[in-house]
Amino acid sequence: MTEPTNQSEKQSQSLTRSVSQAELQNGPQATWTIEDSEELYRINGWGEPYFSINAAGHVTVSPMGDRGGSLDLYELTNALKQRNLGLPLLIRFSDILEDRIERLNACFSRAIARYSYAGDYRGVFPVKCNQQRHLIEDLVRFGKPHQFGLEAGSKPELMIALALLDTPGSLLICNGYKDQEYIETAMLARRLGHTPIIVLEQIEEVELVIEASRKLNIEPILGVRAKLSAKGIGRWGTSAGDRAKFGLTIPEIIRAVEQLRSTDMLNSLQLLHFHIGSQISSISVIKDAIREAGQIYGELVKLGANMNYLDVGGGLGVDYDGSKTNFYASKNYSMQNYANDVVAAMKDACQQRGIAVPTLVSESGRAIASHQSVLVFDVLGTSDVISEIPELPADDDPLVLRNLYETYQSISVDNYQEAYHDATQFKEEAVSMFGFGYISLTDRARVERLYWACCRKILEIARQQDYVPDDLEDLEKIMASIYYVNFSVFQSAPDAWAIDQLFPIMPIHRLNEEPTCRGTLADLTCDSDGKIDQFIDLRDVKYVLELHPLKKNLPAEDGQFATGADSASHSQSTHEPYYLGMFLSGAYQEIMGNLHNLFGDTNTVHIKLTPKGYQIEHVVKGDTMREVLGYVQYDAEDLIENIRRRSEQALQEHQITLEESQLLLQNYERSLSRYTYLSS
Ligand SMILES: *Cc1c(COP(=O)(O)O)cnc(C)c1O
Repeated sequence: MTEPTNQSEKQSQSLTRSVSQAELQNGPQATWTIEDSEELYRINGWGEPYFSINAAGHVTVSPMGDRGGSLDLYELTNALKQRNLGLPLLIRFSDILEDRIERLNACFSRAIARYSYAGDYRGVFPVKCNQQRHLIEDLVRFGKPHQFGLEAGSKPELMIALALLDTPGSLLICNGYKDQEYIETAMLARRLGHTPIIVLEQIEEVELVIEASRKLNIEPILGVRAKLSAKGIGRWGTSAGDRAKFGLTIPEIIRAVEQLRSTDMLNSLQLLHFHIGSQISSISVIKDAIREAGQIYGELVKLGANMNYLDVGGGLGVDYDGSKTNFYASKNYSMQNYANDVVAAMKDACQQRGIAVPTLVSESGRAIASHQSVLVFDVLGTSDVISEIPELPADDDPLVLRNLYETYQSISVDNYQEAYHDATQFKEEAVSMFGFGYISLTDRARVERLYWACCRKILEIARQQDYVPDDLEDLEKIMASIYYVNFSVFQSAPDAWAIDQLFPIMPIHRLNEEPTCRGTLADLTCDSDGKIDQFIDLRDVKYVLELHPLKKNLPAEDGQFATGADSASHSQSTHEPYYLGMFLSGAYQEIMGNLHNLFGDTNTVHIKLTPKGYQIEHVVKGDTMREVLGYVQYDAEDLIENIRRRSEQALQEHQITLEESQLLLQNYERSLSRYTYLSS
């Protein structure tokens, strides 16, 4: 369809041309392909086998991985919008959840076969990773063939696990701080056919457990969480080690064993647990931990405990940047490597001592829940650094302006670094002259515009170089556009704000067009931290994301994207919709998201593939304004009454007309039942 352009020709062209805004807006370069987008956004690295790009330039989702059909995410989004499900929209693919569970179990089965391990694997899902009912219900259902269980880390999570888990033979691991009520409830659950394992995390819990067991006359299954000296690295590295928050030190473990022995309960102690932190990026850390745990396990057998289970906790990582490295947003091992190492190390440890191998338990949360949800949100507008072609200064214009113009004209691949310093110096000179009243406000504006034009030209050259000099590194950031996006970082990606976690973010359409802009994202909150300005990259991170320029709206194409009742009262946007997706965000983000600025829960849909396409299994409408106001103790009726009274008063004082007051009240009341985000 288009003539391929020679790559070097393309480069040399842009070296000698200055790039204007008009050119930037000129749309797709003939040579840009979806393969270029694949490489740029690294979608194969982090997305396989679930996410890819189709010939139309849209992101597609293959929820069953390589085993089934696929969906066009852009078309799905439009179809959901037509069903009055506005953006931001959290789309959950239950088939992905199922595939993750299948995969994890298959990896352990293969490892068990490969090493002729004479024991089983019984995974559990840590409820804290995502407590949403529909998700836990799915998990339990999908986990049935594998006797997949649940892990609770608190009393409320225990309530969920007890009521929802109904898979015979699955484990219910009881972690977290415990009081008498927690322990008694867990013990009584044995009578319902559950297999609760109460993991001792604090030395005080030993007494509580002994007491409860006597009182109820139930023999519990107990576990002990060890503080390993092998430490995770990175963000959650301090979850292990002697000073970790949870777990028993080696002397405490010995004490617990003695306490249990003296009350004739040592038979109850059957499980050894450790958790060295989340998102372990290096396989060597995992190996060290298992080696150490294997020794402790063997010692516990020697001390007379009735050991049956080794629970390796969570930590199985997710490759957010697709680099397959031990960078914090990645991991240098596969799920299969992980399973192999757990199985092989435990087999070795047991063989060495001539003891039976345990049932292996893992508590992988992130690796199970991350992939299944995608947040789709729209861009509301952009703010760009001006970059018009500057006009030639007149002879009587200030010298500094004429100098700057000369610099602008001289910029080339040979002097761009020097030119950057000259331009910066001239601009600073102009600012200081303005301070002394030597140049006018208009001239200062011309200097600034000219300065940005220089920067744009320099940046275009710098981008073509293999190596960007240090002093020019910030230029990309300074020149970046701001893309205003319709979501709250605090609600939908709290970890991006709190701990600089990286999530893959990319447009879900127009991927057959070159993204000629560079931008950062600013969210809806009026908090300057409500932004995303770090993105995944092959090496380290990048500070700007390649994005497309917004396309001006073509005059009324008859509400192609009308969103039903919601759109009726809102003005049409001035640009065509531009949708971005945030991927791999299904773990931890939802429950940690908060109501900053009173932006509430987003709309959520559960999508399941069917032979004919897909089916919407559940719709969970996001919070309305009435709901979020209720969380902070406002009663909507009181608020309306308040406004009614004030407009009555204003009417009497002739400050407002009857029509105006009716309109105000109507808007106010209607708003209360609407979504907290903007409708586009
Ligand atoms: C948080 C947690 C997990 C889950 O960890 P992931 O890294 O998400 O797999 C497992 N076990 C315990 C004890 C935890 O606290």
